[in-house]
Amino acid sequence: MFTLIPQLVIGSADLAAAFLFLFGLQRMSSPATALSGISMAGIGMVAAVLASFLYVFSVSDAARPHLMTNVALALIALALGGGLAWWSGRKVAMTAMPEMVALYNGMGGGAAAAVAAVELFGTRTSGTTLGVALLGALIGAVSMSGSLIAWAKLSGILSKPLRVKGQQIANAAVMLVTLAVGGAIIFATLSGAPLLLPTSSWIYIFFGCALLFGVLMTLPIGGADMPVVISIYNALTGLAVGLGGFVLQNPALMIAGMVVGAAGLLLTLLMAKAMNRSVANVVFTNFGEGAKHAARTIKGSLRPVAASDAGIAMRYAAKVIIVPGYGLAAAQGQQKLYEFVKLLQAAGVSVRFAIHPVAGRMPGQMDVLLAEAGVPYDMIFQLEDINDDFATADAALVIGANDVVNPAARTDKSSPIFGMPILNVDKANQVFVVKRGEGKGYAGIQNALFYGDNCNMVYGDAQAVLVQMIEAVRGLGAAAA
Ligand code: NDP
Repeated sequence: MFTLIPQLVIGSADLAAAFLFLFGLQRMSSPATALSGISMAGIGMVAAVLASFLYVFSVSDAARPHLMTNVALALIALALGGGLAWWSGRKVAMTAMPEMVALYNGMGGGAAAAVAAVELFGTRTSGTTLGVALLGALIGAVSMSGSLIAWAKLSGILSKPLRVKGQQIANAAVMLVTLAVGGAIIFATLSGAPLLLPTSSWIYIFFGCALLFGVLMTLPIGGADMPVVISIYNALTGLAVGLGGFVLQNPALMIAGMVVGAAGLLLTLLMAKAMNRSVANVVFTNFGEGAKHAARTIKGSLRPVAASDAGIAMRYAAKVIIVPGYGLAAAQGQQKLYEFVKLLQAAGVSVRFAIHPVAGRMPGQMDVLLAEAGVPYDMIFQLEDINDDFATADAALVIGANDVVNPAARTDKSSPIFGMPILNVDKANQVFVVKRGEGKGYAGIQNALFYGDNCNMVYGDAQAVLVQMIEAVRGLGAAAA
Protein backbone atom coordinates (compact mmCIF):
# COMPACT_ATOMS: atom_id res chain seq x y z
CA MET A 1 0.00 0.00 0.00
CA PHE A 2 2.76 2.47 1.05
CA THR A 3 4.81 1.55 -2.00
CA LEU A 4 1.77 1.87 -4.29
CA ILE A 5 1.26 5.62 -3.71
CA PRO A 6 4.79 6.62 -4.84
CA GLN A 7 4.37 4.33 -7.87
CA LEU A 8 1.12 6.07 -8.76
CA VAL A 9 2.70 9.52 -8.36
CA ILE A 10 5.71 8.50 -10.49
CA GLY A 11 3.40 7.13 -13.20
CA SER A 12 1.24 10.28 -13.23
CA ALA A 13 4.29 12.58 -13.25
CA ASP A 14 5.78 10.61 -16.17
CA LEU A 15 2.52 10.94 -18.09
CA ALA A 16 2.31 14.66 -17.36
CA ALA A 17 5.96 15.09 -18.38
CA ALA A 18 5.39 13.24 -21.65
CA PHE A 19 2.38 15.46 -22.39
CA LEU A 20 4.38 18.60 -21.59
CA PHE A 21 7.27 17.49 -23.85
CA LEU A 22 4.93 16.95 -26.80
CA PHE A 23 2.89 20.10 -26.22
CA GLY A 24 6.05 22.14 -25.64
CA LEU A 25 7.58 20.84 -28.89
CA GLN A 26 4.43 21.73 -30.79
CA ARG A 27 4.64 25.31 -29.46
CA MET A 28 8.28 25.58 -30.53
CA SER A 29 7.14 25.57 -34.17
CA SER A 30 6.48 29.33 -34.11
CA PRO A 31 8.73 32.10 -32.74
CA ALA A 32 5.66 33.66 -31.08
CA THR A 33 5.01 30.58 -28.91
CA ALA A 34 8.50 29.06 -28.79
CA LEU A 35 9.48 30.59 -25.43
CA SER A 36 6.44 29.16 -23.65
CA GLY A 37 7.05 25.83 -25.45
CA ILE A 38 10.58 25.67 -24.05
CA SER A 39 9.29 26.52 -20.56
CA MET A 40 6.66 23.76 -20.79
CA ALA A 41 9.18 21.14 -21.86
CA GLY A 42 11.45 22.34 -19.03
CA ILE A 43 8.65 21.99 -16.47
CA GLY A 44 7.99 18.48 -17.82
CA MET A 45 11.64 17.61 -17.31
CA VAL A 46 11.63 18.97 -13.73
CA ALA A 47 8.48 16.94 -12.96
CA ALA A 48 10.04 13.75 -14.35
CA VAL A 49 13.30 14.30 -12.45
CA LEU A 50 11.57 15.10 -9.13
CA ALA A 51 9.19 12.16 -9.46
CA SER A 52 12.06 9.77 -10.05
CA PHE A 53 13.29 10.52 -6.50
CA LEU A 54 10.05 8.96 -5.20
CA TYR A 55 11.34 5.65 -6.56
CA VAL A 56 13.12 5.27 -3.22
CA PHE A 57 9.75 5.00 -1.48
CA SER A 58 8.33 2.53 -3.98
CA VAL A 59 10.74 -0.25 -2.98
CA SER A 60 10.72 -2.50 0.10
CA ASP A 61 12.13 -1.20 3.42
CA ALA A 62 15.06 -3.60 3.13
CA ALA A 63 16.18 -2.24 -0.27
CA ARG A 64 15.82 1.42 0.75
CA PRO A 65 19.12 2.08 2.65
CA HIS A 66 21.16 0.99 -0.38
CA LEU A 67 19.18 3.33 -2.63
CA MET A 68 19.74 6.28 -0.28
CA THR A 69 23.43 6.33 -1.31
CA ASN A 70 22.31 6.62 -4.94
CA VAL A 71 19.93 9.45 -4.03
CA ALA A 72 22.78 11.36 -2.38
CA LEU A 73 24.96 10.85 -5.48
CA ALA A 74 22.09 11.91 -7.77
CA LEU A 75 21.55 15.09 -5.73
CA ILE A 76 25.25 15.98 -5.95
CA ALA A 77 25.22 15.32 -9.72
CA LEU A 78 22.07 17.43 -10.11
CA ALA A 79 23.53 20.34 -8.16
CA LEU A 80 26.82 20.22 -10.11
CA GLY A 81 25.28 19.67 -13.56
CA GLY A 82 22.35 22.04 -12.99
CA GLY A 83 24.63 24.76 -11.61
CA LEU A 84 27.08 24.47 -14.50
CA ALA A 85 24.27 24.48 -17.07
CA TRP A 86 22.64 27.52 -15.48
CA TRP A 87 25.92 29.43 -15.40
CA SER A 88 27.06 28.52 -18.92
CA GLY A 89 23.56 28.96 -20.41
CA ARG A 90 23.36 32.52 -19.10
CA LYS A 91 26.76 33.62 -20.31
CA VAL A 92 26.89 31.95 -23.75
CA ALA A 93 26.93 34.28 -26.77
CA MET A 94 24.39 33.65 -29.54
CA THR A 95 27.22 32.92 -31.99
CA ALA A 96 28.61 30.25 -29.63
CA MET A 97 25.27 28.44 -29.41
CA PRO A 98 26.17 25.64 -31.88
CA GLU A 99 29.23 24.76 -29.72
CA MET A 100 27.10 24.66 -26.61
CA VAL A 101 24.46 22.48 -28.25
CA ALA A 102 27.24 20.12 -29.38
CA LEU A 103 28.60 19.86 -25.85
CA TYR A 104 25.19 19.28 -24.24
CA ASN A 105 24.31 16.80 -26.91
CA GLY A 106 27.51 14.88 -26.20
CA MET A 107 26.57 14.77 -22.53
CA GLY A 108 23.11 13.43 -23.40
CA GLY A 109 24.69 10.68 -25.48
CA GLY A 110 27.14 9.94 -22.66
CA ALA A 111 24.32 9.75 -20.12
CA ALA A 112 22.38 7.32 -22.32
CA ALA A 113 25.53 5.20 -22.75
CA ALA A 114 26.06 5.26 -18.96
CA VAL A 115 22.50 4.02 -18.34
CA ALA A 116 23.17 1.20 -20.81
CA ALA A 117 26.51 0.45 -19.11
CA VAL A 118 24.79 0.01 -15.73
CA GLU A 119 22.49 -2.51 -17.35
CA LEU A 120 25.31 -4.33 -19.18
CA PHE A 121 27.52 -4.63 -16.09
CA GLY A 122 24.57 -5.50 -13.83
CA THR A 123 22.01 -8.28 -13.77
CA ARG A 124 19.53 -8.26 -16.61
CA THR A 125 16.24 -9.95 -17.06
CA SER A 126 16.14 -10.93 -20.73
CA GLY A 127 18.00 -11.18 -24.00
CA THR A 128 15.83 -8.40 -25.44
CA THR A 129 16.86 -6.00 -22.66
CA LEU A 130 20.49 -6.96 -23.28
CA GLY A 131 20.16 -6.29 -27.02
CA VAL A 132 18.43 -2.94 -26.44
CA ALA A 133 21.05 -1.93 -23.84
CA LEU A 134 23.86 -2.76 -26.29
CA LEU A 135 22.21 -0.73 -29.05
CA GLY A 136 21.69 2.20 -26.65
CA ALA A 137 25.31 1.92 -25.50
CA LEU A 138 26.58 1.92 -29.09
CA ILE A 139 24.50 4.88 -30.27
CA GLY A 140 25.04 6.88 -27.06
CA ALA A 141 28.82 6.39 -27.10
CA VAL A 142 29.14 7.25 -30.81
CA SER A 143 27.01 10.34 -30.25
CA MET A 144 29.09 11.38 -27.25
CA SER A 145 32.54 11.17 -28.83
CA GLY A 146 31.27 12.49 -32.19
CA SER A 147 29.61 15.50 -30.53
CA LEU A 148 32.78 16.27 -28.58
CA ILE A 149 34.79 16.34 -31.83
CA ALA A 150 32.07 18.57 -33.34
CA TRP A 151 32.41 20.89 -30.33
CA ALA A 152 36.21 20.97 -30.72
CA LYS A 153 35.85 21.87 -34.40
CA LEU A 154 33.28 24.59 -33.82
CA SER A 155 35.26 26.18 -31.03
CA GLY A 156 38.41 26.19 -33.20
CA ILE A 157 40.37 23.67 -31.07
CA LEU A 158 40.47 21.39 -34.12
CA SER A 159 40.75 23.65 -37.11
CA LYS A 160 41.29 21.37 -40.09
CA PRO A 161 39.31 18.34 -41.31
CA LEU A 162 41.51 15.26 -40.82
CA ARG A 163 41.34 13.11 -43.93
CA VAL A 164 43.46 10.09 -44.85
CA LYS A 165 43.18 7.65 -47.72
CA GLY A 166 40.98 4.65 -47.02
CA GLN A 167 39.39 6.40 -44.07
CA GLN A 168 35.90 5.19 -44.83
CA ILE A 169 37.10 1.58 -45.06
CA ALA A 170 38.83 2.00 -41.67
CA ASN A 171 35.62 3.46 -40.21
CA ALA A 172 33.58 0.54 -41.56
CA ALA A 173 36.13 -1.90 -40.08
CA VAL A 174 35.87 -0.27 -36.62
CA MET A 175 32.07 -0.49 -36.80
CA LEU A 176 32.25 -4.18 -37.80
CA VAL A 177 34.60 -4.93 -34.88
CA THR A 178 32.22 -3.09 -32.51
CA LEU A 179 29.28 -5.16 -33.74
CA ALA A 180 31.30 -8.38 -33.46
CA VAL A 181 32.24 -7.52 -29.87
CA GLY A 182 28.56 -6.81 -29.17
CA GLY A 183 27.79 -10.28 -30.57
CA ALA A 184 30.44 -11.79 -28.24
CA ILE A 185 28.82 -10.07 -25.25
CA ILE A 186 25.39 -11.42 -26.16
CA PHE A 187 26.76 -14.94 -26.69
CA ALA A 188 28.80 -14.95 -23.46
CA THR A 189 25.94 -13.56 -21.39
CA LEU A 190 23.21 -15.81 -22.74
CA SER A 191 25.32 -18.99 -22.76
CA GLY A 192 27.05 -18.20 -19.47
CA ALA A 193 30.38 -19.18 -21.08
CA PRO A 194 32.84 -16.26 -21.45
CA LEU A 195 34.65 -16.05 -24.82
CA LEU A 196 38.44 -15.86 -24.21
CA LEU A 197 38.05 -12.82 -21.95
CA PRO A 198 35.70 -12.06 -19.04
CA THR A 199 32.45 -10.49 -20.29
CA SER A 200 33.24 -7.23 -18.48
CA SER A 201 36.43 -6.89 -20.60
CA TRP A 202 34.38 -7.29 -23.77
CA ILE A 203 32.04 -4.55 -22.53
CA TYR A 204 35.01 -2.18 -22.06
CA ILE A 205 36.30 -3.05 -25.55
CA PHE A 206 32.79 -2.48 -26.94
CA PHE A 207 32.63 1.02 -25.45
CA GLY A 208 36.19 1.79 -26.59
CA CYS A 209 35.38 0.81 -30.20
CA ALA A 210 32.08 2.76 -30.21
CA LEU A 211 33.79 5.90 -28.88
CA LEU A 212 36.59 5.50 -31.45
CA PHE A 213 34.02 5.18 -34.24
CA GLY A 214 32.36 8.49 -33.23
CA VAL A 215 35.76 10.23 -33.33
CA LEU A 216 36.83 8.72 -36.68
CA MET A 217 33.46 9.40 -38.25
CA THR A 218 33.50 13.13 -37.33
CA LEU A 219 37.18 14.05 -37.83
CA PRO A 220 37.03 14.21 -41.66
CA ILE A 221 33.94 16.45 -41.80
CA GLY A 222 34.55 20.19 -42.37
CA GLY A 223 33.91 22.57 -39.44
CA ALA A 224 31.18 24.48 -41.25
CA ASP A 225 29.14 21.30 -41.76
CA MET A 226 29.12 20.72 -38.01
CA PRO A 227 25.58 22.11 -37.39
CA VAL A 228 24.15 19.38 -39.63
CA VAL A 229 26.39 16.79 -37.98
CA ILE A 230 25.27 17.94 -34.53
CA SER A 231 21.68 17.60 -35.65
CA ILE A 232 22.42 14.00 -36.73
CA TYR A 233 24.03 13.27 -33.35
CA ASN A 234 21.07 14.94 -31.67
CA ALA A 235 18.76 12.46 -33.38
CA LEU A 236 21.06 9.60 -32.31
CA THR A 237 21.21 10.82 -28.71
CA GLY A 238 17.40 10.93 -28.63
CA LEU A 239 17.28 7.37 -29.90
CA ALA A 240 19.84 6.23 -27.31
CA VAL A 241 17.87 7.93 -24.52
CA GLY A 242 14.66 6.28 -25.75
CA LEU A 243 16.37 2.88 -25.70
CA GLY A 244 17.64 3.69 -22.18
CA GLY A 245 14.03 4.40 -21.21
CA PHE A 246 13.08 0.94 -22.47
CA VAL A 247 15.87 -0.67 -20.42
CA LEU A 248 14.80 1.23 -17.29
CA GLN A 249 11.11 0.75 -18.11
CA ASN A 250 10.66 4.50 -17.78
CA PRO A 251 7.92 5.81 -20.13
CA ALA A 252 8.88 9.51 -19.71
CA LEU A 253 12.44 8.75 -20.81
CA MET A 254 11.19 6.65 -23.72
CA ILE A 255 8.89 9.43 -24.95
CA ALA A 256 11.43 12.22 -24.35
CA GLY A 257 14.08 10.21 -26.23
CA MET A 258 11.83 9.47 -29.16
CA VAL A 259 10.66 13.09 -29.38
CA VAL A 260 14.28 14.30 -29.44
CA GLY A 261 15.22 11.58 -31.92
CA ALA A 262 12.36 12.40 -34.30
CA ALA A 263 12.90 16.17 -34.00
CA GLY A 264 16.65 15.76 -34.64
CA LEU A 265 15.98 13.57 -37.67
CA LEU A 266 13.47 16.03 -39.14
CA LEU A 267 15.81 18.96 -38.52
CA THR A 268 18.67 17.11 -40.23
CA LEU A 269 16.52 16.39 -43.28
CA LEU A 270 15.19 19.97 -43.42
CA MET A 271 18.69 21.46 -43.19
CA ALA A 272 20.00 19.14 -45.88
CA LYS A 273 17.00 19.99 -48.08
CA ALA A 274 17.44 23.73 -47.57
CA MET A 275 21.08 23.37 -48.71
CA ASN A 276 20.00 21.08 -51.57
CA ARG A 277 22.40 18.43 -50.33
CA SER A 278 21.87 14.88 -49.15
CA VAL A 279 22.77 13.90 -45.58
CA ALA A 280 25.33 11.47 -47.08
CA ASN A 281 26.88 14.40 -49.00
CA VAL A 282 27.31 16.30 -45.72
CA VAL A 283 28.88 13.33 -43.93
CA PHE A 284 31.07 11.96 -46.72
CA THR A 285 32.23 14.97 -48.80
CA ASN A 286 34.29 18.07 -48.20
CA PHE A 287 31.82 20.80 -49.06
CA GLY A 288 33.20 23.89 -50.82
CA GLU A 289 36.56 22.23 -51.57
CA GLY A 290 37.61 23.10 -55.11
CA ALA A 291 34.61 25.43 -55.46
CA LYS A 292 36.94 28.22 -56.52
CA HIS A 293 37.91 26.25 -59.60
CA ALA A 294 34.53 24.76 -60.32
CA ALA A 295 32.33 27.84 -60.22
CA ARG A 296 32.21 30.36 -63.09
CA THR A 297 34.44 33.42 -62.91
CA ILE A 298 32.40 36.60 -62.60
CA LYS A 299 33.12 39.57 -64.85
CA GLY A 300 32.43 43.17 -63.84
CA SER A 301 33.34 45.41 -60.96
CA LEU A 302 32.11 46.05 -57.45
CA ARG A 303 30.64 49.47 -56.64
CA PRO A 304 31.28 50.62 -53.08
CA VAL A 305 29.04 53.24 -51.52
CA ALA A 306 29.25 55.08 -48.20
CA ALA A 307 27.13 53.71 -45.36
CA SER A 308 25.51 57.12 -44.90
CA ASP A 309 24.43 57.28 -48.57
CA ALA A 310 22.96 53.78 -48.40
CA GLY A 311 21.09 54.65 -45.19
CA ILE A 312 19.65 57.82 -46.71
CA ALA A 313 18.61 55.98 -49.91
CA MET A 314 16.62 53.51 -47.83
CA ARG A 315 15.09 56.34 -45.79
CA TYR A 316 13.53 57.65 -49.03
CA ALA A 317 12.38 54.21 -50.27
CA ALA A 318 8.78 53.04 -49.90
CA LYS A 319 9.47 49.33 -49.49
CA VAL A 320 12.64 47.78 -48.04
CA ILE A 321 13.37 44.09 -47.44
CA ILE A 322 16.26 43.15 -45.14
CA VAL A 323 18.18 39.86 -45.46
CA PRO A 324 20.27 39.06 -42.38
CA GLY A 325 23.04 36.46 -42.56
CA TYR A 326 25.92 34.98 -40.62
CA GLY A 327 27.88 38.28 -40.61
CA LEU A 328 25.12 40.04 -38.65
CA ALA A 329 25.41 37.41 -35.91
CA ALA A 330 29.22 37.62 -36.00
CA ALA A 331 29.05 41.42 -35.64
CA GLN A 332 26.28 41.23 -33.02
CA GLY A 333 24.58 44.01 -34.98
CA GLN A 334 20.96 42.99 -34.33
CA GLN A 335 20.16 45.79 -31.84
CA LYS A 336 21.57 48.46 -34.14
CA LEU A 337 19.73 46.91 -37.08
CA TYR A 338 16.39 47.21 -35.33
CA GLU A 339 17.23 50.75 -34.25
CA PHE A 340 17.82 51.60 -37.92
CA VAL A 341 14.60 49.83 -38.95
CA LYS A 342 12.57 51.82 -36.40
CA LEU A 343 13.96 55.06 -37.87
CA LEU A 344 12.90 53.94 -41.36
CA GLN A 345 9.45 52.98 -40.10
CA ALA A 346 9.09 56.34 -38.37
CA ALA A 347 9.74 57.92 -41.79
CA GLY A 348 6.93 55.83 -43.31
CA VAL A 349 9.06 53.14 -44.98
CA SER A 350 7.56 49.62 -45.09
CA VAL A 351 10.26 47.29 -43.75
CA ARG A 352 10.24 43.49 -43.61
CA PHE A 353 12.83 40.82 -42.87
CA ALA A 354 13.41 37.84 -45.18
CA ILE A 355 14.86 34.75 -43.51
CA HIS A 356 16.53 31.93 -45.40
CA PRO A 357 16.21 28.52 -43.66
CA VAL A 358 20.00 28.06 -43.49
CA ALA A 359 21.10 31.67 -42.99
CA GLY A 360 23.73 31.89 -40.27
CA ARG A 361 25.34 28.79 -38.84
CA MET A 362 22.47 27.04 -37.12
CA PRO A 363 18.77 26.55 -37.78
CA GLY A 364 16.63 29.44 -36.60
CA GLN A 365 19.70 31.56 -35.72
CA MET A 366 18.38 34.64 -37.54
CA ASP A 367 14.91 34.35 -35.98
CA VAL A 368 16.48 34.15 -32.53
CA LEU A 369 18.82 37.04 -33.27
CA LEU A 370 15.97 39.31 -34.40
CA ALA A 371 13.76 38.21 -31.50
CA GLU A 372 16.64 39.07 -29.15
CA ALA A 373 16.64 42.62 -30.56
CA GLY A 374 12.86 42.88 -30.05
CA VAL A 375 11.83 42.76 -33.74
CA PRO A 376 8.09 41.89 -33.84
CA TYR A 377 7.34 38.46 -35.34
CA ASP A 378 4.95 39.90 -37.92
CA MET A 379 7.87 41.69 -39.61
CA ILE A 380 9.76 38.41 -40.10
CA PHE A 381 9.01 36.32 -43.21
CA GLN A 382 10.33 32.95 -44.31
CA LEU A 383 11.73 32.45 -47.83
CA GLU A 384 8.62 31.00 -49.43
CA ASP A 385 6.39 33.76 -48.03
CA ILE A 386 8.42 36.75 -49.22
CA ASN A 387 10.51 35.67 -52.19
CA ASP A 388 8.09 36.99 -54.83
CA ASP A 389 8.03 40.42 -53.16
CA PHE A 390 11.67 41.28 -53.91
CA ALA A 391 10.63 42.14 -57.49
CA THR A 392 8.50 45.02 -56.15
CA ALA A 393 10.89 46.18 -53.40
CA ASP A 394 12.60 49.55 -53.83
CA ALA A 395 15.61 48.37 -51.89
CA ALA A 396 17.00 45.16 -50.40
CA LEU A 397 19.54 45.39 -47.58
CA VAL A 398 21.74 42.28 -47.39
CA ILE A 399 23.55 42.38 -44.11
CA GLY A 400 26.31 39.80 -43.52
CA ALA A 401 24.63 37.31 -45.86
CA ASN A 402 26.26 35.81 -48.93
CA ASP A 403 25.44 32.24 -50.01
CA VAL A 404 21.72 32.56 -49.28
CA VAL A 405 21.45 35.39 -51.85
CA ASN A 406 23.80 33.96 -54.50
CA PRO A 407 22.02 33.75 -57.89
CA ALA A 408 24.53 31.06 -58.98
CA ALA A 409 22.28 28.64 -57.11
CA ARG A 410 19.70 29.25 -59.87
CA THR A 411 21.92 29.40 -62.92
CA ASP A 412 25.41 27.89 -62.48
CA LYS A 413 25.37 24.09 -62.64
CA SER A 414 29.04 23.95 -61.66
CA SER A 415 28.40 25.82 -58.42
CA PRO A 416 28.38 23.77 -55.18
CA ILE A 417 25.17 25.54 -54.17
CA PHE A 418 23.38 24.91 -57.48
CA GLY A 419 19.75 24.00 -56.78
CA MET A 420 19.68 25.52 -53.28
CA PRO A 421 16.62 27.78 -52.97
CA ILE A 422 17.87 31.36 -52.50
CA LEU A 423 16.31 34.69 -51.62
CA ASN A 424 15.61 36.61 -54.87
CA VAL A 425 17.44 39.73 -53.73
CA ASP A 426 18.84 40.36 -57.22
CA LYS A 427 15.27 41.13 -58.39
CA ALA A 428 14.98 44.19 -56.12
CA ASN A 429 15.25 47.63 -57.70
CA GLN A 430 18.29 48.56 -55.61
CA VAL A 431 20.50 46.29 -53.47
CA PHE A 432 22.87 47.28 -50.64
CA VAL A 433 25.25 44.57 -49.42
CA VAL A 434 26.95 45.11 -46.07
CA LYS A 435 30.13 43.07 -45.53
CA ARG A 436 33.68 43.74 -44.40
CA GLY A 437 35.47 43.08 -47.70
CA GLU A 438 35.84 40.45 -50.39
CA GLY A 439 35.34 37.55 -47.96
CA LYS A 440 33.47 34.55 -49.31
CA GLY A 441 30.62 32.81 -47.56
CA TYR A 442 30.51 29.35 -46.11
CA ALA A 443 30.38 27.70 -49.56
CA GLY A 444 33.63 29.50 -50.50
CA ILE A 445 32.36 30.90 -53.80
CA GLN A 446 32.02 34.30 -55.45
CA ASN A 447 28.64 35.97 -55.64
CA ALA A 448 27.33 37.42 -58.93
CA LEU A 449 24.76 39.48 -57.01
CA PHE A 450 27.53 41.81 -55.83
CA TYR A 451 28.50 42.60 -59.45
CA GLY A 452 24.94 43.34 -60.60
CA ASP A 453 24.04 46.79 -62.02
CA ASN A 454 21.52 47.32 -59.22
CA CYS A 455 23.99 46.46 -56.41
CA ASN A 456 26.20 48.61 -54.18
CA MET A 457 28.66 47.34 -51.61
CA VAL A 458 28.78 48.95 -48.16
CA TYR A 459 32.08 47.82 -46.68
CA GLY A 460 32.59 47.50 -42.94
CA ASP A 461 31.66 45.52 -39.87
CA ALA A 462 27.85 45.17 -39.84
CA GLN A 463 27.43 46.90 -36.50
CA ALA A 464 29.73 49.82 -37.37
CA VAL A 465 27.98 50.30 -40.73
CA LEU A 466 24.58 50.34 -39.04
CA VAL A 467 25.76 52.99 -36.58
CA GLN A 468 26.76 55.18 -39.55
CA MET A 469 23.42 54.57 -41.28
CA ILE A 470 21.54 55.49 -38.09
CA GLU A 471 23.57 58.70 -37.72
CA ALA A 472 22.93 59.63 -41.36
CA VAL A 473 19.15 59.14 -41.09
CA ARG A 474 19.02 60.94 -37.73
CA GLY A 475 21.06 63.73 -39.28
CA LEU A 476 18.36 64.20 -41.94
CA GLY A 477 15.72 64.58 -39.24
CA ALA A 478 17.85 67.09 -37.34
CA ALA A 479 18.54 69.08 -40.53
CA ALA A 480 14.82 69.21 -41.34
CA ALA A 481 13.93 70.44 -37.82
P1 NDP B 1 27.67 33.18 -45.51
O1 NDP B 1 28.55 32.34 -44.68
O2 NDP B 1 27.38 32.73 -46.87
O3 NDP B 1 28.28 34.67 -45.64
C1 NDP B 1 28.50 35.44 -44.52
C2 NDP B 1 29.14 36.74 -45.00
O4 NDP B 1 29.18 37.58 -43.86
C3 NDP B 1 30.55 36.57 -45.50
O5 NDP B 1 30.62 36.69 -46.88
C4 NDP B 1 31.36 37.67 -44.76
O6 NDP B 1 32.01 38.50 -45.73
C5 NDP B 1 30.29 38.45 -44.00
N1 NDP B 1 30.70 38.83 -42.65
C6 NDP B 1 31.35 38.09 -41.74
N2 NDP B 1 31.54 38.77 -40.61
C7 NDP B 1 31.00 40.01 -40.82
C8 NDP B 1 30.87 41.16 -40.02
N3 NDP B 1 31.38 41.24 -38.78
N4 NDP B 1 30.22 42.23 -40.54
C9 NDP B 1 29.73 42.20 -41.81
N5 NDP B 1 29.82 41.10 -42.60
C10 NDP B 1 30.45 40.03 -42.11
O7 NDP B 1 26.35 33.42 -44.65
P2 NDP B 1 24.82 33.18 -45.04
O8 NDP B 1 24.08 33.44 -43.78
O9 NDP B 1 24.47 33.91 -46.28
O10 NDP B 1 24.72 31.65 -45.43
C11 NDP B 1 24.87 30.62 -44.47
C12 NDP B 1 25.71 29.52 -45.05
O11 NDP B 1 26.00 28.61 -44.00
C13 NDP B 1 24.99 28.75 -46.15
O12 NDP B 1 25.90 28.35 -47.14
C14 NDP B 1 24.48 27.52 -45.41
O13 NDP B 1 24.32 26.41 -46.26
C15 NDP B 1 25.59 27.31 -44.39
N6 NDP B 1 25.16 26.54 -43.23
C16 NDP B 1 24.11 26.98 -42.48
C17 NDP B 1 23.66 26.24 -41.43
C18 NDP B 1 22.47 26.66 -40.65
O14 NDP B 1 21.92 25.83 -39.94
N7 NDP B 1 22.05 27.90 -40.71
C19 NDP B 1 24.33 24.99 -41.05
C20 NDP B 1 25.46 24.67 -41.85
C21 NDP B 1 25.84 25.42 -42.90
P3 NDP B 1 33.28 39.38 -45.29
O15 NDP B 1 34.30 38.42 -44.79
O16 NDP B 1 33.69 40.08 -46.55
O17 NDP B 1 32.83 40.32 -44.24
